[in-house]
Amino acid sequence: MSNIERTGPPRLRLRLTPAAEGAVRSGHPWVYGERIRESNREGRSGEVAVVYDRKDRFLALGLYDPDSPIRLRVLHTGKPVPVDDAWWQARMAAAIARRAGLFGADTDGYRLVNGESDGWPALILDRYAGALVLKLYSAVWLERVDDLVRWIRAAEPSVGRVVLRLSRNAQAAFEVAGYRDGQNLFGADAADSVVFHEDGLRFWSDVVKGQKTGFFLDQRENRRRVGSLSAGAEVLNAFSFSGGFSLHAARGGAVSVTDLDISPHALDAARRNFELNREDPRVSGARHQSVQADAFEWLENGPGRFDVVICDPPSLAKREHERAGAIEAYRRLAHAAAGKVRPGGLLLAASCSAHVLEEEFHAAVIEAVDRTDRRYEVVERAAHAPDHPATFDEARYLKAVYLRFRD
Ligand code: SAH
Repeated sequence: MSNIERTGPPRLRLRLTPAAEGAVRSGHPWVYGERIRESNREGRSGEVAVVYDRKDRFLALGLYDPDSPIRLRVLHTGKPVPVDDAWWQARMAAAIARRAGLFGADTDGYRLVNGESDGWPALILDRYAGALVLKLYSAVWLERVDDLVRWIRAAEPSVGRVVLRLSRNAQAAFEVAGYRDGQNLFGADAADSVVFHEDGLRFWSDVVKGQKTGFFLDQRENRRRVGSLSAGAEVLNAFSFSGGFSLHAARGGAVSVTDLDISPHALDAARRNFELNREDPRVSGARHQSVQADAFEWLENGPGRFDVVICDPPSLAKREHERAGAIEAYRRLAHAAAGKVRPGGLLLAASCSAHVLEEEFHAAVIEAVDRTDRRYEVVERAAHAPDHPATFDEARYLKAVYLRFRD
């Protein structure tokens, strides 16, 4: 086989349980440690392992990850291929090419590589104008950081800067090797924040220290939709972060926009984003207010009602055992947020908890809103943006529902 190394230790060879074999064959990209039933030797972090099936036929290639419960991150199934420089480079170019034509010149903030769903396990690449943010979630990439920069620059020759961001899990291993969360891998510009455009609106993204890669690109389509539904409205943006939904609402003709967030830093960021767009008369014409409070508490007890209420909390279940608590929290939030919507008004309830399934989330929202005894209809359900493809269940974390209240 062409992909067997000629020198060094023999290629790491794995065999899986029948269930894991089936899952890999049907495209699931993760193999947990307890589902590996045989290996020819100890594996090293980041090495390419080859998986054989029960009949000793080639099944898959993957990155071995001894430090994670996800022990193998599948790269490829089907026929054997040499995982060499040209292969990686073509894969990077393919992911980036998948975004071609998705956005016009007025949007230069979007995801270029969405992890497993783009064939790049535990790796995200986001664009903010001329700066790219490479976020790594596993030490499997540690030995390939320089290569990644080279593959990225080959696929995106105009890039001016590549910033490295590290997930909490990956930080220690990278720091030992001399890397630092937020460092530039390429480019001299060291500013924390970068201005980019979303539908012609300008936003700051803190690419060095911000949450995720600096902005919640995954909600773009919902922000757009809210913009188109906000003419003449008084809008409440709960869990507002840097005001993404608020700016779209203001530009869409909202009379007033109220940001609600527990973090003064997030509220400041939203003020800066309003400032950045003040030349747009609709943005400067909208009354912008900030409320620093716990949204759970404020939605229940705070004053006033609104024509449009957005409720987009952070992930409430980062782990499976938090799931039941998260569903209860979504019920509580949906009930309280519905109480803030005027007759005729709109509620957008969203969830980014991977461990809460789409149907569970929708059921929780409906159940909670039914308890208000108000008449309403579900106008629309929404999920992932096209630059965030999701090819397996665990990747489908984002769900949202729009409700219109009749009375
Ligand atoms: N909707 C945003 C992203 C929301 S991120 C967008 O489209 O950009 C989640 C936000 O919730 C963060 O800004 C965080 O500070 C805030 N947050 C977390 N817990 C909170 C709480 N209990 N009350 C209010 N805000 C909270």
